[in-house]
Amino acid sequence: MSHYSIHTIATVVQAQVVQEGMMDTPIEHLCIDSRRIIDAPHSVFFALHTSKRNGHDYIHACYEKGIRCFIVEEAIDTSVLKEATVLQVSNSLHALQQLAAYHRHRFSIPVIGITGSNGKTIVKEWLYQLLSDRFAIARSPKSYNSQVGVPLSVWQLQPHHTLGIFEAGISQQDEMEALAFIIQPTIGVFTHLGDAHREGFENKEQKLQEKWKLFQKASVLIYSPDVCGGVNIPSTSIQQLQWGKDETNELQIVSVKKETQHTDIVLKWKQQTHHLQLPFTDEASVQNALTCTAVCLYLEIPVEVLQQKLLQLKPVSLRLELKKGRHQCTLINDSYSADLDSFEIALNFLQQQQQHSRRSIILSDLAVGTEQEAATYNALVRLIASHHVQRVVGVGTVLHHYFKEQLPATVSYHAFGSTEELIHQLPLLQLQDEAILIKGARSFELEQLMPLLEQQVHQTVLEINLSAIAHNIQSIRRRLQPGVKLMAMVKAFSYGSGSYEIANLLQYHGVDYLAVAFADEGVELRRAGIRLPIMVMNPESVTFDLLTAYNLEPELYSLEMTAAFANYLQQEGFTYYPVHIKIDTGMHRLGFMPAEWTQLLQWLQGKDLFAVQTVFSHLAAAEDANEDDFTKAQARLFDEACTLIAQATGQSFLKHICNTSGIMRHPQLQYDMVRMGIGMFGVTGFEPTELQEALCLKTTVAQLKQLQPGETVGYNRRGIIEQPSVIATVRIGYADGYPRNLGNGKGFMLVKGVPAPVIGTVCMDMTMLDVTHIAGVKEGDEVMVFGPQLSIEEVAKRSGTIAYEIMSGISQRVKRVYFEE
Ligand SMILES: *Cc1c(COP(=O)(O)O)cnc(C)c1O
Repeated sequence: MSHYSIHTIATVVQAQVVQEGMMDTPIEHLCIDSRRIIDAPHSVFFALHTSKRNGHDYIHACYEKGIRCFIVEEAIDTSVLKEATVLQVSNSLHALQQLAAYHRHRFSIPVIGITGSNGKTIVKEWLYQLLSDRFAIARSPKSYNSQVGVPLSVWQLQPHHTLGIFEAGISQQDEMEALAFIIQPTIGVFTHLGDAHREGFENKEQKLQEKWKLFQKASVLIYSPDVCGGVNIPSTSIQQLQWGKDETNELQIVSVKKETQHTDIVLKWKQQTHHLQLPFTDEASVQNALTCTAVCLYLEIPVEVLQQKLLQLKPVSLRLELKKGRHQCTLINDSYSADLDSFEIALNFLQQQQQHSRRSIILSDLAVGTEQEAATYNALVRLIASHHVQRVVGVGTVLHHYFKEQLPATVSYHAFGSTEELIHQLPLLQLQDEAILIKGARSFELEQLMPLLEQQVHQTVLEINLSAIAHNIQSIRRRLQPGVKLMAMVKAFSYGSGSYEIANLLQYHGVDYLAVAFADEGVELRRAGIRLPIMVMNPESVTFDLLTAYNLEPELYSLEMTAAFANYLQQEGFTYYPVHIKIDTGMHRLGFMPAEWTQLLQWLQGKDLFAVQTVFSHLAAAEDANEDDFTKAQARLFDEACTLIAQATGQSFLKHICNTSGIMRHPQLQYDMVRMGIGMFGVTGFEPTELQEALCLKTTVAQLKQLQPGETVGYNRRGIIEQPSVIATVRIGYADGYPRNLGNGKGFMLVKGVPAPVIGTVCMDMTMLDVTHIAGVKEGDEVMVFGPQLSIEEVAKRSGTIAYEIMSGISQRVKRVYFEE
């Protein structure tokens, strides 16, 4: 491992030494998150200020876990960090970046820097697959491409490496220079220029200009003018390797011919014509593979060798999937990548799972070379120990060699020689009520375990993209003024998307409050280990016991229920129980009407039963510009109520009124907190937004039929065939939540990305689609009901309803699959 003394680090980042500890300690690891510490004594913690949290708040937690070197940008109390070195800088993020750049500077190997709107991670992973037998490669883990991710990626460069491959992603102006300074690419790769607005730019020119900054010092730039969307390439004196259809390109793509399973390419390189076959047919994969081809040809990989490797390219799965297992287990299937970095990411995901007290790993030997073996397995053992894993199921002999001696005694360890052996003995392990991470090298085919471990259900799934939800939380947070807190509305099974699965993520991302509709929803969250404060909006008197037993905070909305709850508290001997006061300012659903305020104040005045946590109201038409005067009047009434309550109680409390549309449209009404609901899932009804659609409902084709004119489809013969047709029956119906009124051509689904209208009426468990115009449809093919390419809004509009109803109406028999990208 490379390491630097604290002395050196202090010099590199130009820090002022506030407190001196052991300045000679070798530092090997950079840490930015107190939950992710690999080897504390040899780590330096950078206290970063992000939109999410202030790293300075976690210094003490890191000290407790053994870190002894800190880089800070705020004055901190060093008296509780007796043995630590504290280095003060003006900006901790810059310090992290400077240190990474310094590290990078010590290597004079080729480094590929990749940027573009799409495909960065795929191109990086494929280049790795294509080049890893010729080079010892350091690369960004998953898609670590941000201001923080890039320094952490580049830090992985070690003396034995002969090639670096790093990706750079930016979301606004002026971010690329820092990344260019850290990566210092010698080979620049540009993948694709996409839509400017989604990424926070005014127009495509501006975006391209910014991305181009990555390449300022590169010695060659590899890209296709065809994918720059008609935007002029900034002029540059750097050598360029252009590829594309036009014959002026150095690598000319003469023809692209798509067959059913593969794509045939004819290309011209150095005056010679070559044929290449790619093992996929979709546009994006073909383009990414051609980008990789250009890079490999530049690196002088012979075309014949490249052809063989291209045929072996594996789809890149950047997902960590959370699935329901048998015997109340939760499964995380990450059986497709097996390096140390992805292992750490998967372990963090495992650690987020609070719903089980036990966490386990099924792990095979990793694909590492012999020189790296000992270091890799030692690091694995440390990671397992620091992530509170209780059980390790090891498959393979190499891993066993290290694990049998080194795993801490607190970990129960079972060893198997092969995947087959494990499959035979699986029942003996008695896996039950635990979160299980499955991870290993491809050659072990641990994915064979999945059907044995998974709960078998119906083939219609609702996929929930946890990374998109995390992105949306961040984006919403960026719209808030400093200090405004965030309450997440997780009622109705989080709008149909899940309970603890979503709440775990929200807790992890530092949301301040949760709200549910009913007490039992709150109880379920508590049982799954959620510790955030939880507001219950509709508490009934029969649930008061549950509220107090599970530390749930009721909304007081009427005089009757306030009296009942006060009575209950008195009887049970509770004082200062946390409550929330709901004011009716015009929604006229729940809440105290102005005429009731005097009596409400009497309940609050001078009594010690309630601790008022928040006072809130709900906007009736936050999304509607025609009703903005009404919205303002609601806010005025709300202000009045808050003033009265503050005077009466003398307590301080948080005020809040905005839901998602309020956050989007009324920034002046943020008060102390906002309540985000549907926006978490990227659905707002406003276009365009920076939010990402997080839900995708998918089903499969159960059967195909060739029908002739005169025949009919479905109940009451409503679907009339007018020309020779191909009809696909898919496994979703109104019992799953697909609205029955979408029958007879009103609704459509996507088959191979192409709209296929519903024909005939929607049945309880099945729906028929007309796929006559779509080539190559097979039984078992995936069908998208809604998702990133077909918005929930669109489906809702066609059904004459709103996205909320479609989302919360997806029935519980539809399997939920969670994944992180
Ligand atoms: C559901 C709910 C919200 C969230 O509304 P969205 O439009 O989904 O953001 C906010 N406040 C209250 C009181 C709610 O019931």
